[in-house]
Amino acid sequence: MISSLLRYAATYHGGREIVTRTVEGPIHRYAYRDAYKRAAKSANALLSEGVKPGDRIATLAWNTHRHFELFYGVSGIGAVLHTINPRLFDEQIKYIVNHAADRMMFVDLSFVELAERLGGEFPFIERYVVLTDRAHMPRTTLRGAISYEDFIADAPDHIDWPDFDEHAASSLCYTSGTTGDPKGVLYSHRSTVIHALAAAQRGALDLGAEDAILPIAPMYHANAWAMPYIAPMTGAKLVLPGPKMDPESIIDLINEESATFACAVPTVWTMVLDHLESRGLRIDSMKRTTIGGSAVPQSMIDTFRDKYDVRVLQIWGMTETSPMGTVSSLTPEVANLSPKVQREQLSKQGRVQYGIEIKIVDKDGSLAPRDGETSGDLWVKSPFAAKCYFKREDEIPLDDDGWFPTGDVATWDQYGYMKITDRTKDVIKSGGEWISSIELENAASGHPYITQAAVIGVYHPKWEERPLMLAVAAQGTTISKDELLGYLAKQFAKWQLPDDIVFVDELPLTATGKIKKTAIRETYKDYKLPSA
Ligand code: ADP
Repeated sequence: MISSLLRYAATYHGGREIVTRTVEGPIHRYAYRDAYKRAAKSANALLSEGVKPGDRIATLAWNTHRHFELFYGVSGIGAVLHTINPRLFDEQIKYIVNHAADRMMFVDLSFVELAERLGGEFPFIERYVVLTDRAHMPRTTLRGAISYEDFIADAPDHIDWPDFDEHAASSLCYTSGTTGDPKGVLYSHRSTVIHALAAAQRGALDLGAEDAILPIAPMYHANAWAMPYIAPMTGAKLVLPGPKMDPESIIDLINEESATFACAVPTVWTMVLDHLESRGLRIDSMKRTTIGGSAVPQSMIDTFRDKYDVRVLQIWGMTETSPMGTVSSLTPEVANLSPKVQREQLSKQGRVQYGIEIKIVDKDGSLAPRDGETSGDLWVKSPFAAKCYFKREDEIPLDDDGWFPTGDVATWDQYGYMKITDRTKDVIKSGGEWISSIELENAASGHPYITQAAVIGVYHPKWEERPLMLAVAAQGTTISKDELLGYLAKQFAKWQLPDDIVFVDELPLTATGKIKKTAIRETYKDYKLPSA
């Protein structure tokens, strides 16, 4: 049961803190024993509202202590916490709220306007709770609106958490759905607890009571990568950034709360590292960071290590894998190899932990050899990988042996390190050969004058497709196409190089901060390559 995680923290790490930069502004701090009581109050308040096991309860909220309480209050009574990404388009939010048939919605002050704009379209929602106190409660048209502090005020601060089937659903997260409708991934008590155990391990994220964890990844993106579960399970301090996601606020919070560990997508770290560099700031308390969601450029791993003494643990994962799939950490065997090989290994997406298995199937349908070169479709199997999507049970993607197709293309090597070479749909097929868009993007981002790059395949009359690179130059720098091509030519065979490079001011991003290839493909679908 998920409730057992917070009960453990309250009992054995009761004084360890949860610190939040609140939406209202000030820093809020309390301890696990206080959070436990307030989670019980929220559970009791939900029960008096008539919430039943299996009911979906939505949140539109930042990473805060109140949102954390709902992670336990909602799931703890057998209801399903549906965390919604507020950066999705209105149409997508409408679709997922109605698809999930959410009964109640908990909304941060920042998203009241959004909820009001869309609220008329949500027939299932009986009541809204605004995540604030009475003093900050806005005038609002939201149905039955009440402040969270009023909602829980009279509820008892004790509950005997119910014990039920561990396979029962606990939370729901829709993938951003770059193609087709968003798909709801349901987590269970069992998958959540096993995933937290696997992810906290030494060979994975290496978390313990001495850590102060800062989840920058939002609670609506695969449950902040499980940090709201792992922190209580290990007794770590939890530091929650609230709405302030700008580099300066993040750096301040790291320093003021002595965060030792943080997790975020590469685009966030690019901004934070730029800020650190340009202001000459330090983050000396930080020991490790996990970065994932898209490929981590080698230059980012190097900068963290060489300038800030921070170990980067790249993870590969998906909403469907809870999200941790693989983690790049050193094994004793690899730690004995040359620094150059270690660096290469650590830039891969990493190894599996106990609890998840991977296999790679090549173009001919055979298992790819562990040679670090043969690429193929990546499959996973795990008690914390999705088996089907919510209310789409007839479209089970698993094969007969229970393996889940990830849609990624990868290699793996003799040391067990997996490397993502592409998304199945992003691979560039040039005259029967595959060109990895990710490798070209990573290499380009390694140039000091390039902050971001995206590579897509565009039509070529002879080769079917050839790579086109879009690159964003760092502010105040100039770099020509030939200079960048010359730089890439040192790392790639001639036929793998982009046929053209277009410099742009920015690249379109998805709601989770990834480069939106579908939008780029649409914009450049008729692009005429000079070679064509
Ligand atoms: P969303 O696009 O909704 O954020 P996910 O977070 O589930 O969806 O995206 C999962 C996908 O992100 C993976 O299938 C993979 O393509 C990509 N991905 C995640 N981590 C990495 C990584 N470390 N390197 C390369 N690609 C990654």
